Amino acid sequence: MITSRAFADRRYAVLGLARSGLAAVEALVASGAGVTAWDNREEARDEAMALGADIGNPLEIELVGFAGVVVSPGVPLNRHPIAAHAREAHVPVIGDIELFAEAAADLPPHKIVGITGTNGKSTVTALVTHMLESAGVPALMGGNIGLPILSRDPLPEGGVYVLELSSYQIDLSHGLACDIAVLTNITPDHLDRYDGFAGYAASKARLFSLQHRDQVAIVAVDDDPSRMIAGRINHRLHRVSAKDIDPADQTRWPALQGPHNAQNAVCAIAVCRVLGLNDEQIERGLATYKALPHRMEWVGEVAGVRWYNDSKATNAASAAPALAAFPAGAGPASPLDRWRAGEGRRPRRLPPVVRPCEARLSDRRGGGAVRSRDRRCDSGRPRGRPRHRGRACGGGRGARRRGVAVAGLRVFRPVQGL
Ligand code: ADP
Repeated sequence: MITSRAFADRRYAVLGLARSGLAAVEALVASGAGVTAWDNREEARDEAMALGADIGNPLEIELVGFAGVVVSPGVPLNRHPIAAHAREAHVPVIGDIELFAEAAADLPPHKIVGITGTNGKSTVTALVTHMLESAGVPALMGGNIGLPILSRDPLPEGGVYVLELSSYQIDLSHGLACDIAVLTNITPDHLDRYDGFAGYAASKARLFSLQHRDQVAIVAVDDDPSRMIAGRINHRLHRVSAKDIDPADQTRWPALQGPHNAQNAVCAIAVCRVLGLNDEQIERGLATYKALPHRMEWVGEVAGVRWYNDSKATNAASAAPALAAFPAGAGPASPLDRWRAGEGRRPRRLPPVVRPCEARLSDRRGGGAVRSRDRRCDSGRPRGRPRHRGRACGGGRGARRRGVAVAGLRVFRPVQGL
């Protein structure tokens, strides 16, 4: 566990006791801090109490004198009353990543890599960690990838902490100065939490404004918002692009196929170069990387049809490139393939996964938007159903169970993660 003398004799409130919240409670208590913790779930409160926290709802207690309110990134700060309550008491609202940043001063000399972007964060985080480890550099990944960084044991001297950072985690960080900060791409996402797309993009850009002058920014400049953010960075900047990857090289990296993975690879290569890995170490890491579960993960082959689990593609910008990674014409043609090739009739019902990719499909067909008969997809999800990670938009009951034929292959989108 990562602890720090900086927390001793202070009092923190922790709101939201999922994995990172409980890890924060444990690390703060072990560091000698007092903790008042809360979650609506009784079991979570019991766990926090067992770790040594007092139980109390930060919304109902006087926060003056607290060193911080640690909130889970899932708490919508733009709507939740904790933001105003903490502000009135002049107490910062922070996340576990901010606690890590404060604790970093007590850790053996190390580097911190922070990775953000709308898509590709987990892949780049896991890839950088793998490349470093396979080159013999001690590395730990944490953050949004689902591994609370505070619960990990500190790395020895020379280690690298590789943090996947969602925009929410950046919003909750104030002193996180990454030695290397990476932006993979930006497309509209999470707009319910921000003041429009500009607010969301500004949240990502903050990762770079938290850096010091001698630290390094790496930005994949394949989209306009990322290009614009790169244009405003005044410290060391490497602009990279998926186009920098030679497709012939990419064929040697089996778990990194498709244009989106060229972008992920180029970001990871840039990080590893800055950290001093040589070409041979970089190539070995790329060639031996294994895809994370649920990201274009090969599931199996049945009756000549290959099935892939890409249920982590949760927005149109992530589903489309995964589909594009499969060359048209491979495998037996589906009715959709035949229609796209100008043969046969348009399938009466488009598979739900295809809808976010309408523009791409209509381009290939030579114009005319694809219209889905499934009206429930119009809002990107079926009406009256909660948003479910693992399904870009819904479909009929049958569609949820069906594999979806695309370019002769099938992209499998289970309702529950496999
Ligand atoms: P994140 O952590 O940002 O959600 P992941 O690395 O988990 O991203 O990838 C989730 C899905 O997004 C993948 O299954 C793939 O379909 C898609 N994806 C991955 N990298 C990119 C990228 N660079 N650009 C667009 N889509 C991507």
